[in-house]
Amino acid sequence: MKQIEADYLVIGTGAVGMTFVDTMLDESDANFIMVDRHHMPGGHWNDAYPFVRLHQPSAFYGVGSTELGSNRIDETGSNKGYYDLASGPEISAYFEKLMRERFLPSGRVQYFPMCEYTGDGHFHSLLSDERYSVDIGKKTVDGTFFNTTVPSMHQRKFSVVDGVTCIPPNDLPRLAASYKRFTVLGGGKTAMDTIVWLLDNQADPDAICWVCPRDSWLINRSSVQPGADFFEKTVGGFAANVEAMRDAKSVEDLFTRMESAGTMLRVDKQVQPTMFHYATLSEGELVQLQRVKNIIRQQRVSAIDDRKMTMTDGAEVPADGDTLYIDCTARAVEFKEESTKPVFEPGLITLQAVFAPLVTYSAAVIAYVEAHYETDKEKNGLCIPVELADTPEEWMASTLGNMMNGYNWSQNKELNEWTNRCRLNPNAAAIREGAGREPSHREIIGRIKQGTLPAVMNVQKLIAQLPS
Ligand SMILES: Cc1cc2nc3c(=O)[nH]c(=O)nc-3n(C[C@H](O)[C@H](O)[C@H](O)COP(=O)(O)OP(=O)(O)OC[C@H]3O[C@@H](n4cnc5c(N)ncnc54)[C@H](O)[C@@H]3O)c2cc1C
Repeated sequence: MKQIEADYLVIGTGAVGMTFVDTMLDESDANFIMVDRHHMPGGHWNDAYPFVRLHQPSAFYGVGSTELGSNRIDETGSNKGYYDLASGPEISAYFEKLMRERFLPSGRVQYFPMCEYTGDGHFHSLLSDERYSVDIGKKTVDGTFFNTTVPSMHQRKFSVVDGVTCIPPNDLPRLAASYKRFTVLGGGKTAMDTIVWLLDNQADPDAICWVCPRDSWLINRSSVQPGADFFEKTVGGFAANVEAMRDAKSVEDLFTRMESAGTMLRVDKQVQPTMFHYATLSEGELVQLQRVKNIIRQQRVSAIDDRKMTMTDGAEVPADGDTLYIDCTARAVEFKEESTKPVFEPGLITLQAVFAPLVTYSAAVIAYVEAHYETDKEKNGLCIPVELADTPEEWMASTLGNMMNGYNWSQNKELNEWTNRCRLNPNAAAIREGAGREPSHREIIGRIKQGTLPAVMNVQKLIAQLPS
C-alpha cells in the first residue's frame, strides 16, 4: 500500500470535482489528490452519445477560470440566434486540456485516473494491484453525489428478444441508415435530442414512434442566455416567473402562466406535463418534436419482440420487424432517499446543487466558501443544498432554494462581488456589460423587487396545499 498525502482528496473528476478544484486553485494555496475510475476528466461526458450538446450556453458552463466554446451566437440550425452549445467531445477535450495545462502544471494536483475509490482515504488502480492510502490534511471532497447515468452505462429495465435491435443513442449514427422505422423510448432530454437528430437528418416524422411515459415542462432557451442583449428575455423572463409565482392559484396555473410569458414550453398544449428535469430547448427544437404524431403516452415498455411492444400494464402495441429501438430511458440524475445532505461536515464536503440546476456554478460557490469562511455552520448557512426537481411541484421548492441562496450571497459583500464576476453565474456577463441601468431594465428590476416577497409567500402556500 502506497502512502500519499494532500490537503484535499477529491473523488471524481467530473464537472463538479473539476470546478471545485479549479476555484480552490485560485482562492487558496491548498493541494489536491483527484481520483476517478474514468481514463479522462469530464465524467459522464466521456460516455455521452455523439450528438449530445449542452442544454445551456457554453458561456456559463465548465469551470470558473477558463472559457468553454466560442462564445458566439449560432447563425444556423435549431439553436439559431442563441449562444453556442458545446458538444460532448468539446466538453471532454476542455476538461482534459484543463487537467493537462492548468491543474498538473500548478504542481498542486496529483491525478489518479483509472482508479476506484473505496472509502476511508483508500483507492486502487483498476489496471494493477497498486493500492493507495491518503493522509488527508483537510477534507475529502465527494464529487459523485449526483451519480449521473447516461444510456450507454445504464442497466435496461425491459427485455428485448434476440433479433430485435435496441441500442443506446451512442450507436444511432452508425446504425440508423439500415432501418426504416425508429422507436424512441423515454421522455427526457436524451429522447428529445434523438428525435431532433433523426429529423434534422431527414428521417420521416411518420416513421418515428415516441414512447413518452411522462410529458415534461421545458425551459425556453431564450430565457437562459448570457449578456446585456438578452436582458429583457432573461431577467425579464425571471420577472415574469416571479409574477406568475405571485399570482398562481395552483401548480398547473403557475406553469401555464410561465408558458404564456414565454419562459416555459411543452410539446403538446393539450397535455398537462408531470415531469420537470430542467430540460432546456429552443423553440426550433420544439417545432421539430411537434412533427412526431405517433406518441405513446403514460406507458413504459416492459418487453419488446419482433411483432410488438408489451407495456408494464400489459397493453400490447403492434410493432414492425424493421424497427430500430433507441433506449433513452436512463435517468441522468438518481433521485435518492437522501436527496440532500449538509454540504460541509467534519472532514467532508459533498458537492451538491446550491443553485439548481447549475451544478458547476454550485461547485464553484462551494469552493469559494470553503476557501474564505471559517466554521461549517457559517459555510452551510451560505450553501443550503437545493434539491434537483423531478416534477413541476418540486420546481417550486427548488426555485425558492435558489432565491434563498441568491439572497444570502447578495448580503455578503465579498461573496456578492465574487459571484458577480464568476463566469458560471448566468447573470455575470450582463452585470459586466453594465446592464440594468436603462429605463426598461430598471423597470424589470423593479418588478422583481416588488414581486419577490408575495411570490415567495404564495409559493409557500401552494407547497403547503400539496398532498403529502
Ligand atoms: C446529456 C446531459 C446533458 C447535460 N447538460 C447540462 C447543462 O447543459 N448544464 C448543466 O448545468 N448540467 C447539465 N447536465 C447535468 C450534468 O449532470 C452536469 O453538468 C455534470 O456534468 C455532472 O457532473 P458530475 O461531476 O456531478 O458527475 P459525473 O460526470 O458523473 O462525474 C462523477 C465522476 O465520479 C467518478 N466516480 C464515481 N464514483 C467513483 C469511485 N468510487 N471511484 C472513482 N471514481 C468515481 C465517475 O467515474 C465520474 O467520472 C447534463 C447532464 C446530461 C446527462
